[in-house]
Amino acid sequence: MKDRYGRNIDYMRLSVTDRCNLSCDYCSAGKKDTGTNPLSKDQILAIASAASSAGITKFKLTGGEPLMRSDLPEIIKSIKSLPGVVSVTLTTNGVLLSDKCEELKDAGIDLINVSIDTCDKKEYQTLTGSDKLTKVIEGIRACIANGIRVRINTVNRGSKTDVISLVKFADSLDVDLRFIELMPIGKARDMKGSPNLDIMKTLENEFGTGTEDEAKGNGPARYFSFPKLKIRVGFISALGEGFCDECNRLRVTSDGKLKPCLCFGDVIDLNGALKLEAGTREEALVKLIKEAVDSKPERHTFGTPDGITETRGMDYIGG
Ligand code: SAM
Repeated sequence: MKDRYGRNIDYMRLSVTDRCNLSCDYCSAGKKDTGTNPLSKDQILAIASAASSAGITKFKLTGGEPLMRSDLPEIIKSIKSLPGVVSVTLTTNGVLLSDKCEELKDAGIDLINVSIDTCDKKEYQTLTGSDKLTKVIEGIRACIANGIRVRINTVNRGSKTDVISLVKFADSLDVDLRFIELMPIGKARDMKGSPNLDIMKTLENEFGTGTEDEAKGNGPARYFSFPKLKIRVGFISALGEGFCDECNRLRVTSDGKLKPCLCFGDVIDLNGALKLEAGTREEALVKLIKEAVDSKPERHTFGTPDGITETRGMDYIGG
């Protein structure tokens, strides 16, 4: 699907729950019941089926913490079997990964992003409210042993991010790492990260001059190789200019609201269409998905806080 600005929209982030077993200070309030009703498995599959008919080929399952849903492997397997679907990937904090990775492998997961913002156990506990870093690392190793592609995502929290230690840690696991600029959404609305450019300078001082890799992932990440590293380091520079030009995505919240852009509160509610009979439901959902593509704004306004109309948290939206 092309939007009004010629961008090809082929990627959907589907949030399957807004509950989380961590409470990162910039993201989630942790183990909460927010009173919103998460979509059922059948509703998620109806949305995914309509999205694939409309032209979405890549799905990312997110949350809250998606591994808290016991039916996640069935959801993955069913989305994978839809016509035209190229990849189904997952973003997780990794706490439950070692227990679930075989089920995820059997379901056909294509890639797992594990979110780790620090490799220091004490700081991990302060940031997330949990002492589960060792368990997360166990989960990454279990995925590698099972032949599942893994990548680490680190939110760039400015001076709080120990860039060199994190990159050495990822290199020791032989897993690519991406730095994501902190976006002023939800609990992070008034927080300041730092530009990814600063991280690049730190990396080049330590590991040699970076060379940009041609191969791209599902979105706006740019990847670099460094002479002294086995792994590639990626950058998702959400506040930079180029970010929106590369935007290829729609988001669905855990309670069935379709979001054309992360920055704005505007949503298209899918719940009415989800109540229709199966025969008419798909057609109604496809129409709403196309409407969302047509209404995608050209760019976010993260640089001018008054323009940000999204008031809900990232744990609700799914990142
Ligand atoms: N619990 C899962 C996880 O940890 O990956 C999925 C949900 S979480 C909301 C998805 C991603 O969004 C995580 O990598 C998290 O660090 C990131 N995130 C949360 N708030 C953010 C913010 N304000 N700016 C940038 N990334 C953010």
